[in-house]
Amino acid sequence: MEKEKLGKDGRYKACGGAIAWELIEEIDYPENKIERIIESLELHHVDGERYSKKGKGAVIWRSVFDKFLTNMAIESGTLLKDAEALINIEKGGEFYNIITKKGIYKAKYVIVADGATSQTLKALKWPYFEKNNLILTITREMKSKKNYIDGVLGKNAVHLFFGIKNLIPIGYAWLFPKKETITVGWGNQINLIKNSRAEFKKFVHLPFVKEALKNASLEIFKPHLIPVGLRPMLYNENVFAVGDAGGIVDPISGKGIPYAMMSGQIAVETIATCEKKDKIDKMGAIYERNLDKKFLKVLKAKRMARDKIFESDETLKKFLSLWETYRSSQIIMGKMI
Ligand SMILES: Cc1cc2nc3c(=O)[nH]c(=O)nc-3n(C[C@H](O)[C@H](O)[C@H](O)COP(=O)(O)OP(=O)(O)OC[C@H]3O[C@@H](n4cnc5c(N)ncnc54)[C@H](O)[C@@H]3O)c2cc1C
Repeated sequence: MEKEKLGKDGRYKACGGAIAWELIEEIDYPENKIERIIESLELHHVDGERYSKKGKGAVIWRSVFDKFLTNMAIESGTLLKDAEALINIEKGGEFYNIITKKGIYKAKYVIVADGATSQTLKALKWPYFEKNNLILTITREMKSKKNYIDGVLGKNAVHLFFGIKNLIPIGYAWLFPKKETITVGWGNQINLIKNSRAEFKKFVHLPFVKEALKNASLEIFKPHLIPVGLRPMLYNENVFAVGDAGGIVDPISGKGIPYAMMSGQIAVETIATCEKKDKIDKMGAIYERNLDKKFLKVLKAKRMARDKIFESDETLKKFLSLWETYRSSQIIMGKMI
């Protein structure tokens, strides 16, 4: 079920749209749907240091990417109900009643994938994220020209901007170029924000950013939340929280696309195995164990490390310089910081 209408071009979603090349290969994502192939992550600290992390990736539009995934699901037998928002959900005996404007659906299992502000989990009265686990982001899609973007940002690079004292206390800002558009983003831990517009302005007034956005025109402006720590609960009575609804996101980078995909798949596999092996009473524990095995253990360690990384500009710079060479999981699990 999806509240937006998914026409041939999908629906807009505020997102940087950066993904690792392994994911492109894994789902056989067509190259003509890629906006830019990325070879490096340029990490700017506002004090003047610059680090460069090499590695292949891609920048995509979420409208196109999500539509591609939706079509894959439909082709493998999923029934899509778009332009239909869940309004309420109630438990009635063994089944859940999912209530929309168009009708009521009965479900034995519910996989909740409606994002950080999940209406489903609100209606089920699940606990919400703690304030220090939420990042408020602002996205501006700025229309520019390909040649100009290539000149100022490089043909194959995305740019991240850091600075605890002089830019963002816990978070970062970014310029992610698509073909003809620069996605300008900013995100800070929600309870540390005094004035988001003023803080965003500080970012776009940095000389490098100002130059990059010269002559670009605003097409879309959108605030959005990123959860950077788990929801206090991921499973209850046949209901699974996946993706942003569960806070299953990398707490340091805010990367959430692969984890949303994997947690959805793990929820489905958990249901299938528990049904088959008659282990329905152990479903919650098995779901979390499967998540832990695949990636969640690392994300939990990253959540703890995040506080240390953003403790001071010194620890942040140490992390950025290590990040040039190592994956963030290697830095955290290897206790390099
Ligand atoms: C500004 C920003 C930049 C980001 N950049 C990156 C990045 O570069 N790379 C990366 O990997 N991750 C990035 N992320 C994180 C990533 O976008 C999320 O982790 C990912 O989209 C989570 O997917 P999801 O399916 O769980 O939730 P969402 O993508 O939020 O999808 C939820 C869906 O549920 C629908 N919905 C909501 N309410 C209802 C309802 N009541 N009924 C029916 N449908 C409903 C919504 O319309 C939406 O389609 C970024 C996030 C933000 C906010």
